[in-house]
Parts: sequence; structure tokens; C-alpha cells
Amino acid sequence: MPFKHPVLTCPICGDKFRPVKEGKKFCSSKCQKRAWNQQAKQRKLLNAWQAKRIEANIFSLKRLSEMPQFKNELSRDNLISGGFDFSVAPTSFKKINDSAESVPFYADFGLLLQNDSIPTYKIIHLKS
Ligand SMILES: [Zn+2]
Repeated sequence: MPFKHPVLTCPICGDKFRPVKEGKKFCSSKCQKRAWNQQAKQRKLLNAWQAKRIEANIFSLKRLSEMPQFKNELSRDNLISGGFDFSVAPTSFKKINDSAESVPFYADFGLLLQNDSIPTYKIIHLKS
């Protein structure tokens, strides 16, 4: 029995079509190609946006690390008012000395959590 797929609507052009193969989402290779291009464009925008947020975090950690009052520790609020955004995913995690857990890093700048109940942080700068 030949495969009979229900009629679908192409998400790109809106045309109705009946897929000849299982898993087809687009009416034509032209629409498939347009969908790929759109995805590639969106990924590029998303990557640029994430790169900007990472840059901003690196910049704020660098600036805060140069302030003498924050040499040994800072609070979460110090970091936030200094422009640090905790929602940005770190670029890497590294073990520092004998730290039990890996420390989140934004490029060369790490944020070592010093106390769990009243969290304070220490900015670590690994010179590359
Ligand atoms: Zn189409």
C-alpha cells in the first residue's frame, strides 16, 4: 500500500501539499532552502547577541576586579550594580587550586563563590 500522508501547509509559502516522503515539512526544495537560510540567519543573530552579553560580563568583571574595594570579595548586588548579568552562560568552567566545584569563567575572568549562605564572590583573573 503506497504511503498516504495527510495534506500539510508549507510553513514558508503557505501552500497546501501532500508529502511524498515521511518527515517532509516543506512543499519544495526551494522552501526547504529558504527555511534553512532563515534558521542560519536567526542563529547568527542569536550568536551575535550572546557574544555581546558575554563581552559585557567580561567588561564588568574586568572593571570590578580593578576596584580596590572589591579586591577580596564582592556581593551579588555589587556584581549586578557593576553591570554583571548572572543569566549569561559562562564561556567555560575551571577548577581553581583546591576548589571543590568548577568555577564559572567569562574568558579570563572567573567568579569564585566563597560562601553559600551569604554568597560573596571573588573575581579571579587568569592572565593568558
Ligand atoms: Zn512552500
